[in-house]
Amino acid sequence: MALDLNDAVASLRGVGPSLSDKLGRLHIASIRDLLFHLPIRYQDRTRKSAIGSLLPRTEVVIEGSVDLAQVMFGRRRTLVVRISDGTGAIILRFFHFNRSQQIRFAKDRYFRCYGEVRRGQQSLEMIHPECQIIDPDSPLPLADSLTPIYPSTEGLHQPRLRKLIEQCVPLLHSTTVNAIPDFIPPRIRDQLKLPSLEYALSYIHRPPADAPVHELLDGTHPTQRRLAFEELLAHQLSLKQLRNQTRAHAAPKLPRPDGIRRRFEAGVGFDLTGAQQRVIDEIDGDLAQAMPMLRLLQGDVGSGKTAVAAAVALNAIVAGYQVALMAPTELLADQHRRNFERWFGELDFTVLMLTGRLAQKQRRSTIAQIADGAPCLVVGTHALFQDDVAYPNLGLVVVDEQHRFGVHQRLALWDKGAIGASRPHQLIMTATPIPRTLAMTAYADLDVSVLDELPPNRKPARTVVIPDARRGEVIERIAHACANSRQAYWVCPLIDESDLLEATAATDTLALLNEALPQLRIGLVHGRMSEKDKSAVMHSFSAHELDLLVATTVIEVGVDVPNASLMVIENAERLGLSQLHQLRGRVGRGAATSDCLLLYKTPLSETAKHRLRVIRETTDGFVIAERDLQLRGPGEVLGTKQTGASEYRIADIARDHELLPLVQRTADELLRAEPDIVERIIERWLTDRIEYVNV
Ligand code: ADP
Ligand code: MG
Repeated sequence: MALDLNDAVASLRGVGPSLSDKLGRLHIASIRDLLFHLPIRYQDRTRKSAIGSLLPRTEVVIEGSVDLAQVMFGRRRTLVVRISDGTGAIILRFFHFNRSQQIRFAKDRYFRCYGEVRRGQQSLEMIHPECQIIDPDSPLPLADSLTPIYPSTEGLHQPRLRKLIEQCVPLLHSTTVNAIPDFIPPRIRDQLKLPSLEYALSYIHRPPADAPVHELLDGTHPTQRRLAFEELLAHQLSLKQLRNQTRAHAAPKLPRPDGIRRRFEAGVGFDLTGAQQRVIDEIDGDLAQAMPMLRLLQGDVGSGKTAVAAAVALNAIVAGYQVALMAPTELLADQHRRNFERWFGELDFTVLMLTGRLAQKQRRSTIAQIADGAPCLVVGTHALFQDDVAYPNLGLVVVDEQHRFGVHQRLALWDKGAIGASRPHQLIMTATPIPRTLAMTAYADLDVSVLDELPPNRKPARTVVIPDARRGEVIERIAHACANSRQAYWVCPLIDESDLLEATAATDTLALLNEALPQLRIGLVHGRMSEKDKSAVMHSFSAHELDLLVATTVIEVGVDVPNASLMVIENAERLGLSQLHQLRGRVGRGAATSDCLLLYKTPLSETAKHRLRVIRETTDGFVIAERDLQLRGPGEVLGTKQTGASEYRIADIARDHELLPLVQRTADELLRAEPDIVERIIERWLTDRIEYVNV
């Protein structure tokens, strides 16, 4: 029987329950979903490179014969293979291998390998390249078109995914199949000279052999623009619709509670900055209305957003309502709980905590307390909007570090607060400063407040840039600082796309530092640890039971340990500006002057030099964000790329920004004239985004 786009993936050849499951994790249920599962990038395997001409940080195909293969027993067992092709030699390095793989690399055997070239200790290297034995006299043909790389999940390899999608692509042209409707009005398609949807989809999955490689690699090919336009349109429509829907609801009026507010300010332990007061006023104004607030609070790292949230939470509590504050990690939720308990304790307000970590019994009792409806503040993670949690009386929702959450997670919590037609107010906080132009499109549904002043007496971190070769001096500085009861971070950021390799790098660094600094108490956090273990380590660090914390970028968001005043960031040349800025924001929070040491590997690219100069010379998040937008594009500025949780499948706001005015106009037009199409575009691009953002 012929396949239909609506058929379940299980109707494809070779798809059993286990593969269906894995596809399900990628939100792929039907053949249509497979077709809309778009490549995140392409690899060029159409040409082979001479080994003597390789440059670091390129991904290439090479061919050569094995000179030698040996297992090295260093800190980690490693299979090292050297292959050469007459123009030069390169090392292949494997950390995971078995006996038969080892035997495979027999001397003089001829291989074709694909992988990323990197600078090794002695020569260029590839780590875990894909290797294939070939016959040099009659080699397999090279790929005749670019190889798409898809978002995937554990246990589902690219070739498998590619084959599946290839099976489906012909259906796009089949006449017996329900066509995929093209929602972009023909007038606009003509104006932008965009190809049809079917053509675009099949081209993107299987670029023809003569496709313009650079356009595809850059993401500027007309077929990519076609899909990016529709995706941007979907986002814009959903944001505008959200705003309209929000405004159609009623909300409780929560006037400023003057007396309590004064007591809070007196007990908080510092004077609010002018910016904090101004923003609190703006929020007070919204909360006093009978329409739900939907406000984004932007404030640089350390600008004191938590105190603002606390001040306005009082409006709700005093008016007899509940407040829910959602943070992206247990770590942050815990930190908020401690602050709020301290600030609200004196006012006799209840602070509850709801995270995935609670024991059953405790969880049940907390949920019962919430269900009771008495005014309180509930701090938590996404556990806050699980099915069995009910808020009879929710007046305000606060979402911290919002870029870690999807719009839909935020909405799930908001919906929990429904009381008839009435909905809670929402305050959404982010430490990622966003240039105005970008904010308009990324947050078309929000009003925006900005905390543009840091609390007084903050001493910006002194930032120095140091070549990796001087690592010994850096280690000595840590020893010295910790001997003076300061604390330090050592950050090993993403050196690869895999968090496994990142965790491995951090683990290796820990071993190294343990050896070099036996007198120090050193801890480790990375993304492969459970929330519970991460949290335990952070607690010890924050209680000064640890001197030095080796970490991956998991510590980037929100962590506040004022006594930590030294930070080392490895591979700084590979990080974007916003990320460096966020990381550096972890120090400079206490009374001592802080230092941030950026270690880099030579030689530096021009962009990397520029970036390191900017980060050394300025500490203003907005200036950094503008530069970042110029240098690297909005993925970074919006903080999506760095969490691996890009909101977009194919669009890229920096690259595609010239589409935005037309996207906005088209969105308005469709909302006015074609509500049915609006729903369907949103459904096509956004229904699966709900759990996509990795919290
Ligand atoms: P962020 O905006 O990054 O979330 P936090 O809310 O964590 O910043 O605040 C950073 C630190 O500054 C906290 O230790 C907080 O108690 C402190 N803080 C906040 N506001 C002020 C202020 N007006 N004066 C002094 N310290 C403040
Ligand atoms: Mg914060």
